[in-house]
Amino acid sequence: MAIQAPEGTKDLLPDEAAFWAQFKRTAAEVFGRYGYAPIETPVFEQTELFVRGIGEATDVVSKEMFTAISGENLKKLLDGGTVKAKSRLSLRPEGTAGVVRAVVQHDLVPQGAAPVKLMYAGPMFRAERPQKGRQRQFNQVGIECLGAEEPTVDAEAIIMLMQFYEAVGIPHASMRLLVNSMGCDRCRPAYREKVLAYLHEHAEALCDTCLTRAETNPLRAFDCKNPDCAQVMEGAPKITDCLCDECRAHYQAVKELLEAAGVTYVEDPTLVRGLDYYTRTVFEVQVVDGLGSQNAIGGGGRYDKLAEEVGGRPTPGLGFALGYERCVLALQAAGVEFPQATRCEVFVACVDDSVRAQAFSLVQACRDAGLPADMDHQRRSLKSQFKLADKLGARLVAVLGPDELAAGSVTLRDMQTHEERTVPLEDVPRMANA
Ligand code: AMP
Repeated sequence: MAIQAPEGTKDLLPDEAAFWAQFKRTAAEVFGRYGYAPIETPVFEQTELFVRGIGEATDVVSKEMFTAISGENLKKLLDGGTVKAKSRLSLRPEGTAGVVRAVVQHDLVPQGAAPVKLMYAGPMFRAERPQKGRQRQFNQVGIECLGAEEPTVDAEAIIMLMQFYEAVGIPHASMRLLVNSMGCDRCRPAYREKVLAYLHEHAEALCDTCLTRAETNPLRAFDCKNPDCAQVMEGAPKITDCLCDECRAHYQAVKELLEAAGVTYVEDPTLVRGLDYYTRTVFEVQVVDGLGSQNAIGGGGRYDKLAEEVGGRPTPGLGFALGYERCVLALQAAGVEFPQATRCEVFVACVDDSVRAQAFSLVQACRDAGLPADMDHQRRSLKSQFKLADKLGARLVAVLGPDELAAGSVTLRDMQTHEERTVPLEDVPRMANA
């Protein structure tokens, strides 16, 4: 059998690849209005970065990372040797850790400087069990803002995210924005203890995973999909009742800024999100119908401690990532189709083989004038050339035969109106462009 793409991966065929390119352009346009500039970081990093940044106990790090290993090091390991810590590499499961590492490494936010606003788009890798909306390689678009802790940063990022979804065509009414505050290292430890005590009290009703999680990160019990656990967690202490004054004021300010901008949100005190680095604001955007359990199309939050975790000076930060493939599912659920990519505007058809060289030059002249143009490359009959032109979506077909060539002209046929006119050969690129 022919070799298939690896499980959990998906080829983006031309129409979709064109849509992905447009998706990224829309992100650059919308986020650019808020001062975000692109950054590209490697798709693999030292494993240690993700362990320290995302957290050893998270599912992403403990179970889902793909190891990247050079042939030389693999041989060493197979021979029973060890590899140096800095040679232990993982494919990035998310974008934030790499961007924060780059910000620290290149000192992009020197002390006292204005915040740095960065955006990225590209593949992420998680060894999850593949299902609809959950892949092992998927594409994310994300932003990170480092160097400011004001709630205006949080609010503008959320506003920008919602604007982006609408700009790519996801209907406003199909989305739900959830917000919460996860507190900071002053108020969260006490809250964590409260949740831990609550989990111990209800241990008999919880699943084994939640009981194990209780010891490492009790807040993750809020994410458990087991209905019994979910029911228990409904009665658990809420972080919003335990925030310190600063966190409460910060959260309040974010909500007021969102309201002033007309952004509707739902407060969800159980929204804890899967990665350890979040502090204060967290948010998630879900699609209401059609995506099943993988309904989160994006999310993010504030991570004021992350720069320190990866060895930098204290630098507050905030970011979000949105999943391209899930946005596509949301668009499909809403009945939106990919626009067909324009591959050919002018098709040059040859009446017979004697004019192929001139047809080739005419195609080239059209392309040089900026027009997508093509011709037949398989010596098809004139009738099949017209069929091909139709298939390629050509707007015009320039028919070139020995008689036309002798007269220095072509017959230009409009594929929509079927109108035909004779035009001088050299005028084709200009007329087709008009
Ligand atoms: P996260 O980094 O987990 O906060 O994910 C941010 C967004 O990326 C999610 O809201 C999803 O839209 C998308 N995403 C995360 N994991 C996957 C996956 N395995 N497959 C497809 N999309 C994903």
